[in-house]
Amino acid sequence: MSDAASTPDSLVTPLAKAAAVPVPAADELAGRFPLVPNAHPATEAERAQALTDLHFGKVFSDHMTHARWTRGEGWGSQETVAFGDISLSPAAAVLHYGQEVFEGIKAYRHADGSIWTFRPRYNAARLNVSARRLALPELPEEDFIASLVDLVRADQEWVPSGDGESLYLRPYMFASEAFLGVHAGGVVDYYVIASPSGAYFTHGLQPISIWVAQDFHRAGRGGTGFAKTGGNYASSLLPQQQAAEQGCDQVCFLDDVTEKNLEELGGMNIMVVDADGTVRTPHLTGTILEGNTRSAIIRLLQDEGRKVVEDTISLEGLLADIESGKVTEVFACGTAAVVVPLGHLKGEGFDVTISGQEVTHQIHDRLTGIQYGRYEDPYDWMYRLV
Ligand SMILES: *Cc1c(COP(=O)(O)O)cnc(C)c1O
Repeated sequence: MSDAASTPDSLVTPLAKAAAVPVPAADELAGRFPLVPNAHPATEAERAQALTDLHFGKVFSDHMTHARWTRGEGWGSQETVAFGDISLSPAAAVLHYGQEVFEGIKAYRHADGSIWTFRPRYNAARLNVSARRLALPELPEEDFIASLVDLVRADQEWVPSGDGESLYLRPYMFASEAFLGVHAGGVVDYYVIASPSGAYFTHGLQPISIWVAQDFHRAGRGGTGFAKTGGNYASSLLPQQQAAEQGCDQVCFLDDVTEKNLEELGGMNIMVVDADGTVRTPHLTGTILEGNTRSAIIRLLQDEGRKVVEDTISLEGLLADIESGKVTEVFACGTAAVVVPLGHLKGEGFDVTISGQEVTHQIHDRLTGIQYGRYEDPYDWMYRLV
């Protein structure tokens, strides 16, 4: 069954279609970023130590992949080299004007020791959607996937095997040209770094609490909300701090036009489960980042026979529906945290509890079951790296 073949409606987006295009086997892509081995890799004992008690994004593997683009010449000098500090001119454009995009994708170890990733073409295509918006060069999709293959093959010992653990891969691209004039950078660097990671939220599938930001928006019409770019995260940090001051784990943003409708969290999409089993998620209005996880979950829920709709979800309506029992669950989803139930929704003048978690748990099990090879993968979502 192909990824996009039988989903009946408009929820099959260009990115979901891109994700369904077959990828050449990893053996065919390997070697595009030739390995210059780290002369001082971590010792086995150091690595074993690093792989116990994993958190998120704190420890990095021995290597990184790198490519440089220059205007006129395009991409060149692709390599896999020792992970380490990079040197940058203090005038590098990214440090002043934030011309940067990134991705997040994981490598999962299956019980037989093989290592896989999830719908890599989706992320490859999305990197280019983001790059276009930020006036950065596009990276050929198969080079993106090859960069993951070469890095994970070099650092395969760094892929942990515990429950919910993975090697988190962070591809990113930025303007490194030393020039203070405002124009698209003529020199751009692309890197992938890798971080062995445990669960994103240390308390696992425990529900998280959400602060609904009322003074700030994450994105605006015509802006960069649909692109995975550091600037969106930079603007979410102050509201995230305010959420923490309110005792909440994460912040949720409303749209900037009506200031009434739910968009997403700082780095995760949201879904609402109705008592009748329907699942609703905000429309992709251009101010929301189109998650790979969101897209996969829509497909899984539909194939379970559920109705899934993109909807305008007003905060007021949601609060009333939680109150009346029409909405039974709300969850957030994204690669890093996978699927997390929302237990509290708090903001100026309200504080409601959401107690349901059944569908959230089911979909977490379905999705991670495919990702970790516990369940069959009828969609060809998994791509073998090693
Ligand atoms: C990355 C991201 C997501 C989740 O996307 P996935 O592809 O599922 O990881 C959602 N919202 C924002 C703002 C993001 O940056």
